[in-house]
Amino acid sequence: MRMGQCRWSIVIYFVTLHRNSIIMAAIIATLKDRWMQFRRWQETPYVAPPVSTDESTRCLNCGDTFTGNYCPRCGQTKKTRRFTVHNAVVNFFEVWGLTNSAFLRTVIHLLLRPGRMIGDYLRGHRQPYFPPIRMLFIIVAVFVIVDYLLPQFVPNPQELGDAMNKDTTTADTVFKMVDLWMKEHVAAFLIILHTLMAVINTYLFRKSPRLPSSTIVENFYAQIYICCQMLILGFISMLLTFPFVFHRVDEINEWIGTIVYVLDYKQLYGMSWWGTIWRTAVSFALILAVLMLIYVLIILAYDVYVSPS
Ligand SMILES: [Zn+2]
Repeated sequence: MRMGQCRWSIVIYFVTLHRNSIIMAAIIATLKDRWMQFRRWQETPYVAPPVSTDESTRCLNCGDTFTGNYCPRCGQTKKTRRFTVHNAVVNFFEVWGLTNSAFLRTVIHLLLRPGRMIGDYLRGHRQPYFPPIRMLFIIVAVFVIVDYLLPQFVPNPQELGDAMNKDTTTADTVFKMVDLWMKEHVAAFLIILHTLMAVINTYLFRKSPRLPSSTIVENFYAQIYICCQMLILGFISMLLTFPFVFHRVDEINEWIGTIVYVLDYKQLYGMSWWGTIWRTAVSFALILAVLMLIYVLIILAYDVYVSPS
């Protein structure tokens, strides 16, 4: 009797195990399927919507009759209507160049298929995406406003004055000056930094399969997009950690940032993992060396021209 019970429980145990393993296998298969679908989506460029084949429209601007989304003579959209509240809102965003969904699309693509999107943009898919430099300026402008509304992280000029008056080393004072300048000229600093990286990457990735012999300007636009991506990631991480940790809107954990850089370059240039990792490391080391050199030059200049001896 007891032996039988025991045997049954063993059978039930194995039947359950078997059933669970079938369920697990099904879940894994579904996840794998979704992942493959996601990978295919990452590799597919954005497809523009089809041309409107409605009956012909009379252009409200030049009076020509046409079929399609835009007037072929003057370029005015078929959707031109009388002014309403909705139009007024759209007009407000037009100042920023935010009338279509390009901005939101670019943000989403920068988060989910960054290297692929940047590659598509450089190869000529310009229309669906928001242009990189305008995007950087809008993001920085928004961040300046958010930073202004949040508790202050930026050291005020008073602090800098104190540091200069106190008996501190030149390096300390210069460090504070550079830090303050960087925080007050975020966009300028980011553009200088990414220009340097673009020059370095043009050389390092010149034999990449997906972007062979790319120009400095192409790498510069790629860098500006990556910069926007980092700022967005920093913003998301600030929102996620907001009640617990205060950090600047544009700050991102350097380890996460480095991993994201490697993933971006892997997708953009299409080199092997190892090839991508060592090039990213060399790129970072060189940029650090250049920044150190600039820093030393500023200290020397400060000692010669500013510091009273
Ligand atoms: Zn027209």
